[in-house]
Amino acid sequence: MRISDLLRFARERGEPIFSFEFFPPKTDDGVRQLFETVEALRPLGPAYVSVTYGAGGSTRQRTLELVKRLKRETEVEAMAHVTCVGASREELAGVLDELADAGIQNVLALRGDPPRGQTSFEPHPEGFRYASELVAFIRSRPERWRFCVGAAAYPEGHVETRDLAADLAHLKIKVEAGADFLVTQLFFENAHYVRFVDRARAAGITVPIVPGIMPFTNVDQTERFTAMCGAAIPPPLRAAMEVRRTDPDSARDLGVAYATLQCAELLRRGAPGIHFYTLNRSTSTRAIVAALRASEPWRG
Ligand code: FAD
Repeated sequence: MRISDLLRFARERGEPIFSFEFFPPKTDDGVRQLFETVEALRPLGPAYVSVTYGAGGSTRQRTLELVKRLKRETEVEAMAHVTCVGASREELAGVLDELADAGIQNVLALRGDPPRGQTSFEPHPEGFRYASELVAFIRSRPERWRFCVGAAAYPEGHVETRDLAADLAHLKIKVEAGADFLVTQLFFENAHYVRFVDRARAAGITVPIVPGIMPFTNVDQTERFTAMCGAAIPPPLRAAMEVRRTDPDSARDLGVAYATLQCAELLRRGAPGIHFYTLNRSTSTRAIVAALRASEPWRG
């Protein structure tokens, strides 16, 4: 089913959707564990799962295989991430054809990050510079690619465009090219999301904007991620993380509790759902979604 329809039906019922993001494991054992993770999360009623596309397009085949298997073997809808990194239009057309042939209905269209060792994004000479061009490309063959198309959004601005107004103008181009919904970069301060949605609506962006939340489990890793994607860690959270730097259990407990509070507030304020960056683990996400389903903050 198309994610835009899942979002619409959920809105009509007055309920949010929950989705879970995974990355393609490198080994068969990792894939087995991933399917166990999906099984563990399935009772929580995810609307869909998504599979990332490794930096530099490095996981292309593994992403495609995994998303097809998830769609085939679990009863959960699946979305494939696709990036423009290192790919010509023809190669991207091949990826989209393969997804369409496998019955995948949802694609997250991304530019992608520069491959390791490169400081700025260099488009393939026969490829695309911006995600909006990939979105437009998908829309250029409606008879062949009938995908529901998602795209990325950045409540604190994208690292390469810290001017929030300019970044929002670029986002508008991407949505007008044909994106059906947006998923945000992770953030730890809900005010960023709330202000961003207000600014997006004022700019005429009307598609659903689903917040992306990462229940952190490891302090060093969280610092690495936030340094890369430019998400701020509020000082009280940073202090709480600092004292748990060498205590993984305590760091994970804090990550669960913090993300639960964050999600509850977002849903109370009308967010259409939550997209969880699961890091391929189920424990934290399971606890958070179970608590949210038990307390239904979206009702009050
Ligand atoms: P774009 O929308 O093209 O934006 C990139 C930059 O270009 C921004 O600074 C933007 O302001 C600027 N820009 C856009 N259009 C214009 C224009 N017309 N003129 C001038 N500047 C412009 N990365 C992966 O490699 N694999 C994944 O699977 C993956 N999944 C992700 C999932 C989510 C939900 C999110 C939020 C991010 C994900 N990323 C992934 C990271 C993403 O690829 C990076 O953030 C990347 O740097 C930007 O991708 P984008 O699609 O947002 O690019």
